[in-house]
Amino acid sequence: MIKFKIESDLHKEYEWVISIFAKYIGFDCAFVNEEEDILIAEHGLGDIQISHFFKNIFISGDYQFKSYFKKEPLHYSASGKPDYLSTCFYLLSYLQEYTDYVPDKYDRFPYEISLQKYFNCIEENLVAKYFDALYESTPKLKSLVQKKIHKTKFFLTHDIDSVYGALGNNYKYLLKNGKIGTLLQLIFNHYMKTPDYLLLDKIMDIEDVYDVKSTFFWIVNYGMGNPKIKNADYHIDNKKIKDVRENIFKRGNTNALHKSVSTETHAKEFQKLGDHLLEVNRNHYLQIELPGGFNGMENSEVKIDSTMGFPETIGFRNNYGLPIHPYKLKGKWAYNFIEVPLTIMDTTLKYYNNNNSTQARNIVLNFLEKNKTDAVMTILWHNNYFFDHRDKGWIDLYKDVLQFIKENSLSAASPIQLLEEFK
Ligand SMILES: [Zn+2]
Repeated sequence: MIKFKIESDLHKEYEWVISIFAKYIGFDCAFVNEEEDILIAEHGLGDIQISHFFKNIFISGDYQFKSYFKKEPLHYSASGKPDYLSTCFYLLSYLQEYTDYVPDKYDRFPYEISLQKYFNCIEENLVAKYFDALYESTPKLKSLVQKKIHKTKFFLTHDIDSVYGALGNNYKYLLKNGKIGTLLQLIFNHYMKTPDYLLLDKIMDIEDVYDVKSTFFWIVNYGMGNPKIKNADYHIDNKKIKDVRENIFKRGNTNALHKSVSTETHAKEFQKLGDHLLEVNRNHYLQIELPGGFNGMENSEVKIDSTMGFPETIGFRNNYGLPIHPYKLKGKWAYNFIEVPLTIMDTTLKYYNNNNSTQARNIVLNFLEKNKTDAVMTILWHNNYFFDHRDKGWIDLYKDVLQFIKENSLSAASPIQLLEEFK
């Protein structure tokens, strides 16, 4: 047990970030007023020096990243020393998303205006790097504890937005490429109301080969959520959907909520979902604004959320690879749920970044290769990417990710395992 004394008005803020740091390095911590092991202070006598600039800007209510960071995403104190702790607080708390900004057309915080885009660092696990530097530059701490190694884990997920979209999405392609047999089959299926995209057994069969399990996120509201966003194209109580969900559970996989765009609370939607073991959520379209989005989840007793990725790019939205309890700015402490950030999504690669599956493969494997430690890689592969009458490359890429897990002796974690490890 390492005892910290914090001499700062941002007592709660630093306690929170130290508790994440402690979990990362692998020790238990306590906060005391005397007989401390480590002193955190704004003056040079502290074992860890923090910046009074940082405090002043933060207390003034200015959360824009340019007020804290100049040439790089690292804050420096007046003496010119890097202030890792304050920087990690800024990044981990998603503070930039608490500024006034113009949202994108789906009401989201745009990657375009983020510090990650500005400093070109979205793929970097900066917080882990800064935590390492903090540990290395604090001899007292180093003499007391040894750093733990975190092998990267995977959180494999599938959002089920559509089960009937196969004809609509593919008829032009099939027609153009003369695949008339398939086209006729899809037309027939369409009129028979066959859910061509309900390929979940196929997904689980692939995963069984690699001995991994995954989580399926369901939308409980049908039709348009608002004029721009469509919720599910299926009814959650439909017999076929119910059977599939039961089958997912029987095969040892997890059902979760893909929160629709609606005025309903998460709690209400979990009630409609019915058959979950744990309140695991991801918002549809990754639509969220802070702090309202986080507050709503906490009020609905969400245990795990996995919404926090940028739709426009793969990478770390808060520059940290591991799950945390996010910071509650008003409550001055952590939210009850853990955020397991989304890191890699198929749609990002295909539509937002216009890659073909070969280009996407290089990007994904390169990113994974650089992050074999200190991360939970959350992979989102939609069910329709397993429909193979068009480009099998996207299924192969998913298999490549599973092969990467196997080859590197890594593992995929279930929500229950993630909660156990990161609660
Ligand atoms: Zn969705």
